[in-house]
Amino acid sequence: MSKLAGRSYIVTGAGSGIGAATVARLIEDGANVVAVDLDADAAQKTLDDLGVDKGRAIAVGVDVSDESKVDEMTAQGVATFGGLDGVVNCAGVRGVGNILDTEHGVWDLNMDVNIEGSFNTSQAFCRYAREHNRPGSIVNISSQAGVEAVPNRLAYVTSKHGVVGLTRGVAIEMAQHGIRCNGIAPGMIATAMTAGMRADPENLEKIRKAHPIGREGQPEEIAAVISFLRSDDASYVTGIMMPVDGGITAGAASF
Ligand code: NAD
Repeated sequence: MSKLAGRSYIVTGAGSGIGAATVARLIEDGANVVAVDLDADAAQKTLDDLGVDKGRAIAVGVDVSDESKVDEMTAQGVATFGGLDGVVNCAGVRGVGNILDTEHGVWDLNMDVNIEGSFNTSQAFCRYAREHNRPGSIVNISSQAGVEAVPNRLAYVTSKHGVVGLTRGVAIEMAQHGIRCNGIAPGMIATAMTAGMRADPENLEKIRKAHPIGREGQPEEIAAVISFLRSDDASYVTGIMMPVDGGITAGAASF
């Protein structure tokens, strides 16, 4: 039997990159999915491309920073699938700028989507799960930039460090109720978010050299770890921030 058969999960950022790959993997694992994205058409396209049976997945257009819309979307997921077993928070934005020039709009957007968005979905899920005395699990996507600083991404670095705190805090508060909360800190993954950085061949070569494994990662390689953290194989795992980064946070690849 598929390892997540009969379970239902919300996946945010489902219209692109890691979120879209996660939808594909969870469907393959047998789960039902609420595919959420700011861009409703992109979320629907993810499902159409997979040819998912309509009874197994729905696409919903939601801004994860909007608390009331997240609550509505969570209720819609519960009503559609008869219950929910967790959330994967992949929706994210990445602002550019340092301490001298970061615009406040960029700062606010990074905090609103990356931290508050994950907080909103986690709170809606935990409230629902406690009310119905159900176990569950949450997976948050932080970043290499959430466990160490990278230059000229101050708002992103700060927000992704916040996701580490959110993950640990929720984990220790909810462990006694059977709700696990874990995070993943990816290195460079080939998605739309990083297309600009990878477009210049010289820059791409530098990126590859910086990762000891010698290449950028694919969204499916993050989705595979999400699938593990979701599953009962990870039943004793909570509060971790797992690097899935080709070794970049283990140490310098070369002198
Ligand atoms: P992506 O840009 O391909 O996808 C992000 C998705 O989030 C998009 O579909 C976008 O529409 C959606 N989104 C943005 N704001 C939203 C909002 N307010 N409400 C709902 N949806 C919203 O990016 P990705 O590379 O797949 O990134 C997924 C997550 O992984 C992000 O949190 C990102 O910070 C993180 N991450 C990515 C990398 C990488 O190298 N790609 C590395 C580390 C961490």
